[in-house]
Amino acid sequence: MDKNQKAYLKELFGSRVNFDEPERVLYSHDVAAIPSLIAPLIGKTVPDAVVQPQNEEELIELVHWARKNNIALTPRAKASSGYGGVLPVKQGIVVDFFRLNHILSIDKKAQTVTCQAGVVWEKVDNALAKEGLTVNLYPSSYPGSTVGGWLAQGGAGFGSYQYGWFRENVVSARVAMPDGSVCVFTGADLDLIADAEGTTGFIIDLTMKVQPKDELHIIAIGCPDATDLQQIVEDIVKADLPVWSLVFINPKMAEMKNRAPLMEHNGHPAEERVLLPASYVATIAFHKKEATLVVAALKEILHRCQGEILSERIAEHEWKDRFKLMVVKRLGPSLVPAEVVIPLSRLGRFMAEVDNKINQPVVKEGTVVRKGKDGKPEVVILGFIPADQRKFSYNFVFSLSLSIMKIAEANGGRAYSTGLYFKSKADKVLGTERVARLKAFKNKIDAAGIFNPGKVIGHSLMDSAMRIASAFEPLIRPFGNHVITHIGESKRNPSLTDIPSDVVWYAYSCSQCGYCVEECDQFYGRGWESQSPRGKWYWLREYLEGRAKWNQAQVDTFLVCTTCELCNLRCSTALPIEPSWMKLRGLLINEEKRMTFPPFEMMAEALRSEGNIWAWYRKNRADWFPEDLKDKHGPGHKAPAMYFAGCTASYVEHDIAMATVRLLDKAGVDFTYAGKPENCCGTPMLVAGKWDLFADIMRKNIEVVRQTGADTVIASCPACDMMWRNVYPDRARKLGIDYNIKTRHYSEILSEKITSGEFVFPANTMQPVKVTWHDSCHIGRASGVYEAPRELIKAIPNVHFVEMAHNRENAHCCGSVLTLIKEPPVAADIGKTRLDEAVEAGAEKVLSLCPCCQVQLRVAAKKKNMPVEVVDLAHLAGNALGYDFPDPNPDVHSQWGVFDAFISLMTPQGFSKLMGTMWPQLIDSMPFGMGPVMRAMGRIPGALNLMKPMFPVLFPKLLPMMLPKVMPVMLERVADLIPMPDYMREQMPELMPKVMDSLMPHMIGDVVPLVTPPMINYLTGKTK
Ligand SMILES: Cc1cc2nc3c(=O)[nH]c(=O)nc-3n(C[C@H](O)[C@H](O)[C@H](O)COP(=O)(O)OP(=O)(O)OC[C@H]3O[C@@H](n4cnc5c(N)ncnc54)[C@H](O)[C@@H]3O)c2cc1C
Ligand code: SF4
Ligand code: SF4
Repeated sequence: MDKNQKAYLKELFGSRVNFDEPERVLYSHDVAAIPSLIAPLIGKTVPDAVVQPQNEEELIELVHWARKNNIALTPRAKASSGYGGVLPVKQGIVVDFFRLNHILSIDKKAQTVTCQAGVVWEKVDNALAKEGLTVNLYPSSYPGSTVGGWLAQGGAGFGSYQYGWFRENVVSARVAMPDGSVCVFTGADLDLIADAEGTTGFIIDLTMKVQPKDELHIIAIGCPDATDLQQIVEDIVKADLPVWSLVFINPKMAEMKNRAPLMEHNGHPAEERVLLPASYVATIAFHKKEATLVVAALKEILHRCQGEILSERIAEHEWKDRFKLMVVKRLGPSLVPAEVVIPLSRLGRFMAEVDNKINQPVVKEGTVVRKGKDGKPEVVILGFIPADQRKFSYNFVFSLSLSIMKIAEANGGRAYSTGLYFKSKADKVLGTERVARLKAFKNKIDAAGIFNPGKVIGHSLMDSAMRIASAFEPLIRPFGNHVITHIGESKRNPSLTDIPSDVVWYAYSCSQCGYCVEECDQFYGRGWESQSPRGKWYWLREYLEGRAKWNQAQVDTFLVCTTCELCNLRCSTALPIEPSWMKLRGLLINEEKRMTFPPFEMMAEALRSEGNIWAWYRKNRADWFPEDLKDKHGPGHKAPAMYFAGCTASYVEHDIAMATVRLLDKAGVDFTYAGKPENCCGTPMLVAGKWDLFADIMRKNIEVVRQTGADTVIASCPACDMMWRNVYPDRARKLGIDYNIKTRHYSEILSEKITSGEFVFPANTMQPVKVTWHDSCHIGRASGVYEAPRELIKAIPNVHFVEMAHNRENAHCCGSVLTLIKEPPVAADIGKTRLDEAVEAGAEKVLSLCPCCQVQLRVAAKKKNMPVEVVDLAHLAGNALGYDFPDPNPDVHSQWGVFDAFISLMTPQGFSKLMGTMWPQLIDSMPFGMGPVMRAMGRIPGALNLMKPMFPVLFPKLLPMMLPKVMPVMLERVADLIPMPDYMREQMPELMPKVMDSLMPHMIGDVVPLVTPPMINYLTGKTK
């Protein structure tokens, strides 16, 4: 792609086009791990650019332009498919449909929904649920795949027993055609778009049939072999039972699921293991109103065959985990897929033949389609063979997927889909007539082959290779069969790498399903894969295989994770994602001494000298404490519990701390407060990767509690709570420090007292107000406190409580603190996403108890002009008790304003601007008499330009010697640029040199190119 073409795309898409190589690599693949022997047949698949149209007009304009410039366009939704459909085999442009993700309308009467192609199933279904509707069927990739992707790819899933293949449920699709027109496809014409993978047009939006949402009843049945299972399903079909969905797994899959790791929290299992019998396990879903009929009929059927109804616990578990099949990948860490469709009448034989011919553990999931393509029942079998893609033997195991395909074909079956790899099977997958129609249509509308070249129809090197491999399948099979497969996690690190061995295993275990993508605030704040957990795991694989290298931008993608932990819950493979990023922070920053976010350096120095991150004095830490409570709860009072206020409540949002102690006092809690000796809890240093400093702070804080004699810490700040409750115990154990401190959040104490009747809010005359609750990640997902704050809110008179759409463990993160520090504009966007939900819920106030969330939400609300007020929960509850507290907003905005300005200053651009204000002093400060030499060179035309290549070498050496000399003037300039409060300005001479010492070695490489031209201008007299 040439410069002009890039410029055009930049103009059309702005920040929604990406040319960065590492980013483009993340858009070059799908879920499949291609073996090394096959990859060369596919060729290079890194696109020249990735674009994200946000409306139809942009998409159409792109199509016109690409056609004129003969540039290939490859559509990509969530890339959860595995047939190579999203691979840009002719490079060109990947068109990411992520931003075309709106639900356009719901027609309750006609029972249809119209939505844009890029919307994820889960989102559509949630919107339908509000109207009492639900989708007819969905793929088991429901949390991470799109409606447009399923129509383009074709498929069956949950609900297919009743509703068949997805295409049959689509009423119409609006499509961008290769000539730039928009056509609506309905009825039989949908055959030209469905399963065509974007080769004939890009789906803009579609209308599909939906159904009333009725409660489901789930039954699990077990039976010993596939022939029995076939018989049972045939009987269910014959009896015409009103079943909605019927899926099953084979005994090997049941065994693997029993062995798969459980989801973890703080290093411990966070779910119960439900053991499955080593048999075929079918999960049958039907509407509750039909339960009596279906259950009675099932019992009758099972009576006649070798089958039994399994426990409700198994049924519930299988249903709850229906999207998380990929957890077995943890035992691979790779899976070789084999997906086929077979007639139900051949299920028993097919399974027996696979067992017979394939000498590898084949784990399978089956989906029954009652009325298949020829009107008869058929079964989609998704098989996986555990393997390790890092080994050469993976190539041989991979070849067994062809063996499974052959067995299916011999039993009247076919491949599931075409994509890039199975074009040669298109006649069987789609039918000869449909293929002929598709070919004719493609020739007519896109003879140049701009739209998704190389897919579904036509021929390529890949097809020839597939044909040859198929012909020689019996000869290749023994190689695959002789590979010794090790099943189970092995966290031994075979490659010599700095990455911790468990993280290496997880990187390869990630199924690339994408469930984590849309819900990660870093992804939806920026919109690029590199920010999502999926993208980071893929990048790690690239790194481990020597194709990627660390740079600051990559380090930053790991650092910027807000630690919200939402991805841990969503992961189809139960990966401890956030803890893995946490490990990398320690590795990258503490061990390898790479650069953390510059503002953390300022915080670190403030923390070292004064124990807080806001650069206040320690002597002011306890200023907020109410005078009248000093004797009863203040420093020196002995009590079983100690209130820990944390930095932000102590110095910025005083109302939180004041209101908390008022509430605890009113509730009759005996507590003390340490006051000045208290330090920051250390969360900022933990996430900054500055772990040595974190350990120092932790030690100091544990000592503070010891000094008070308390055995319990009461926190108001969720991050402090998380430290005392989860992180300190773990780190203290590792460092051999005695730790027997309990942690309570004030909301837990109060809600208990409300429940027991010990604490009651008096009637008040407060204006009735509608509020909603923001579950802060660190009190919710990290510490599991969801209900206590809600009970407290509900106990306050005149307060009407409404939930936001994402609540409790699904709550979205506010975006703080990491995003706010790294990229304030992105933080404002993420904050707005959260506040939009509050507005949607009709709330006037968003209540929260986290000081950091409140800073972030207040700043976002102001920047985005949101019609909602952010209020601290304790503040509101304290008001209800008759107390007044200072309005924290002025302090938040003024103190944040200073930080914001420092964030801009501590960038290469910021530093070069600062240096531009002091050229005379900088030149004079050069050592070895270089200043006069430079000035003299400036007078010789062209001399400094000749010296330019030396500057990147010279500056890093000179700057450490120059900085101490220019520091006084630098401090003056900083004070001119950033109006600071007195306490901060007074500390700058102490803080600034240390911050510069930490940052400059990392930043100088980026600063030099920015300062060189203005320095030459100054020396040559062009500027003063
Ligand atoms: C855990 C897991 C479970 C799965 N379960 C199922 C299942 O139950 N049933 C099933 O059928 N599949 C399943 N799949 C496969 C996959 O999820 C489906 O094929 C899904 O429909 C793909 O959707 P997507 O949004 O990821 O599309 P993508 O993978 O991004 O795209 C699929 C194809 O459609 C094309 N395309 C995408 N968007 C458009 C558009 N707007 N216009 C034109 N062409 C477009 C792409 O180029 C590609 O060829 C599963 C995958 C995973 C990882
Ligand atoms: S913890 Fe939150 S921010 Fe971090 S990767 Fe997971 S979802 Fe994204
Ligand atoms: S991290 Fe988990 S949820 Fe995300 S893509 Fe990987 S397996 Fe899927």
